[in-house]
Amino acid sequence: MEISKRLLSPKHRKVHPIDESKLGFGDTFTDHMFKMDYFDGKWQNPRIEPYEPLQLSPAAMVLHYSQTIFEGLKCYRHPDGRLALFRPRDNFDRFNLSAARMAIPQTDAGFLLEALKELLKVDGSWTPSFSGSSLYIRPTIIATESHLGVRPSREYLLFIILCPVGPYYPEGFAPIKIYVESSFSRSAPGGLGAIKAGASYATSLLATEMAAQKNFTQLLWLDACEHRYVEEVGSMNMYFVIDNKIVTSKLTGTILPGITRSSVITVARESGLEVEERLIDIDEIIFAYRNGALTEAFGSGTAAVISPVGLLSYQGEEFTVANGQIGPITQKLYDELVGIQYGLKPDTRGWVDYL
Ligand SMILES: *Cc1c(COP(=O)(O)O)cnc(C)c1O
Repeated sequence: MEISKRLLSPKHRKVHPIDESKLGFGDTFTDHMFKMDYFDGKWQNPRIEPYEPLQLSPAAMVLHYSQTIFEGLKCYRHPDGRLALFRPRDNFDRFNLSAARMAIPQTDAGFLLEALKELLKVDGSWTPSFSGSSLYIRPTIIATESHLGVRPSREYLLFIILCPVGPYYPEGFAPIKIYVESSFSRSAPGGLGAIKAGASYATSLLATEMAAQKNFTQLLWLDACEHRYVEEVGSMNMYFVIDNKIVTSKLTGTILPGITRSSVITVARESGLEVEERLIDIDEIIFAYRNGALTEAFGSGTAAVISPVGLLSYQGEEFTVANGQIGPITQKLYDELVGIQYGLKPDTRGWVDYL
């Protein structure tokens, strides 16, 4: 499919943020966006246009029944100035898994990756070079048909927007405090936990806000049936280091299969660390803590890459992990992954995709 372009003239383009060190997460957008429509049973009209508000019917089905999915990936500036994506094909493949679960028509993942690269040819210069910063990429699909009867929409808009972002934690790579949530649930068996759906995030807002009021950075979600097995931390996959082994929750269908998770497991195993993917009972974690076997805990996801966990609060008790510091395994995995993403370490696995 030919991608048509309607670009802003240079004098109408925004001035890039001057102080890259002050970039936040998700407030600044570039000049252009990619769009594609679905109607009459096919995706059509791929185009790059100025970033601008959407026109939507108040009866657009996404507004009523939340039929929408998204992805999140980043473009990094390497020391030689080249722009690089990290395992982007995996994001577009996962986009299709999300689409299937939400009764949204499948897309051509290879074409979307090409379309993203076209968009980056136009706006890639927005990729910051300040340490820890990147250009965050948000592909999204929304149900646009004007119709209130409950069924899958027959019309959709797919768009990709770009957002220069600073380091996820501006105060630096530092341990976070997490609250183990034992009444609210994020995801139930047969539900949306394994895909990136806006609805899953809506579910998590109230509990996360309540934890924030108690001064916790994130929640640790337990399984919805027994509130016993560890699932995820906020919107990150979760890991514990017990007896020098990395233990992470297995993908039971209620957990998001993170691309960072898959990368962490690969890098850890190739560097000789043992990794177990299995059910993790929260009582096992508390037991391991009490007998000194639990030495580190961390989360992983595209936004923060790796987040060390310095404190767990469970049933009114607080447990300080790794003396509230960054443990050696957490640091090593962080250095390795960030090194590959930013082009400071060799990419021996074909994960880096240059523009
Ligand atoms: C996106 C996401 C993750 C992390 O996935 P990555 O591919 O590593 O960014 C983890 N959990 C949830 C709920 C997510 O939405």
